[in-house]
Amino acid sequence: MLVDTHCHLDDKSFDADRVEVIERARAAGVGLMINIGGTLAGSRRGVELAAAEQGIYATVGIDPFGARERQTGDIEAVGALAEKEGVVGIGEIGLDYHHRHTSAEDQAEVLMEMLELAVAQGLPVSLHCREAHSEMLSILEGARELSGVMHCFSGDEADLARVLGMGLYISAGGPLSYSRSRSLRSMVKEMPRDKFLLETDSPYLPPQGHRGERNEPAYLPLVSETLAGEWDISRQEADELTTRNARRLFGLGEAPGTVAYRTKESVYVNLTNRCTSRCVFCHREEAPVINGQDLRLRREPCAREVREALREDRESEEVVFCGYGEPLLRLGLVKTIAGELKQAGRRIRVNTNGLAELYHGRAVTPELKGLVDEISISLNSADAGQYSKLCRPQEGERAFPALVDFIKGAAKNIPVVTATAVEYPGVDTEACARLAKELGAEFRVRKLVE
Ligand SMILES: [Zn+2]
Repeated sequence: MLVDTHCHLDDKSFDADRVEVIERARAAGVGLMINIGGTLAGSRRGVELAAAEQGIYATVGIDPFGARERQTGDIEAVGALAEKEGVVGIGEIGLDYHHRHTSAEDQAEVLMEMLELAVAQGLPVSLHCREAHSEMLSILEGARELSGVMHCFSGDEADLARVLGMGLYISAGGPLSYSRSRSLRSMVKEMPRDKFLLETDSPYLPPQGHRGERNEPAYLPLVSETLAGEWDISRQEADELTTRNARRLFGLGEAPGTVAYRTKESVYVNLTNRCTSRCVFCHREEAPVINGQDLRLRREPCAREVREALREDRESEEVVFCGYGEPLLRLGLVKTIAGELKQAGRRIRVNTNGLAELYHGRAVTPELKGLVDEISISLNSADAGQYSKLCRPQEGERAFPALVDFIKGAAKNIPVVTATAVEYPGVDTEACARLAKELGAEFRVRKLVE
């Protein structure tokens, strides 16, 4: 089974035979298709198509062409569409200096708005970039929370390294099979296989053998064939690998796992299993289980899925962002959900390792002001050297001073701030209590779970 991760089935060139095109794709083994938006109208058509047809998903967004066409209110309207069933991403969005539909400034402005939307909704992005790689990559590097794919990749090796360095995926379609695409093929040949997705970009860019025709998702096996040749594997293996990658990135038809779980008074929200620390006493890697609840996520939930998970629980007063993973790595999503819950009169707590400011490269606690009632920060040591040994932060020695700053910032911006230390051999809880007090925080000793 194959996934066409980028097609424009809503395009008017499919108006006469859209259903047949979709059926031909299915018959060719292309079971899932993602219809990519680019304007408000196109995004709307994609959402409707996803609702009507099994196996079709949609992304919504405003691309550089849509940027020129856009009218007041379109960006907000795309934001509302992003919350709809069947929407799995924001896109396509990006910069296009080849077609210059509108000025570079205007393109960048819309791109930034769209990236913000993606981060707030916790959705991956489908990125379009033509002759603008250096500008585009600098913008993307400022957004650590982003996941997504650079579609129809046309950069050079240095660009590819930067894209992969951000954890983004690459996709390619018909052009992979063109004779002039030798350098693209050699890059794809060498790149990590868990980061490549297949696409057709139908009705554009048909593969070799169909050039000059309207492209359609049924031609995707030809792209997989080319890929299999480059990677020296079977077609079936190429299909399986790329399908797995597409499902992982867009979470197609797969439940994320336990997103919300309850204790006596509170409901807990599990947004990620990633963490920038590897505390010696933490079981995240071997057994992320709390009170018998398996918190291993198959993938990270988006805002819509978090809302769904919380829908069953309206009675617990307090909502706690805390799972097996660091919730503030998904700061935009925390802010979206906390904002909505706060409006509904709920009390919000965040449990954190206090290192999010290093990750995002900016002050985080002012952004949580008014959204979060209480923050609980793992301190665990009053000594920088011991802290590094216990918590093994990926930022090394920069971590402890950043943690101290985070607690100070929290004390200014959040009503209740508690620094905590686990009960663990060698942890000096009294020294931690003294430091917490100095920084303007309360202090609590935490029992180790399990
Ligand atoms: Zn496209």
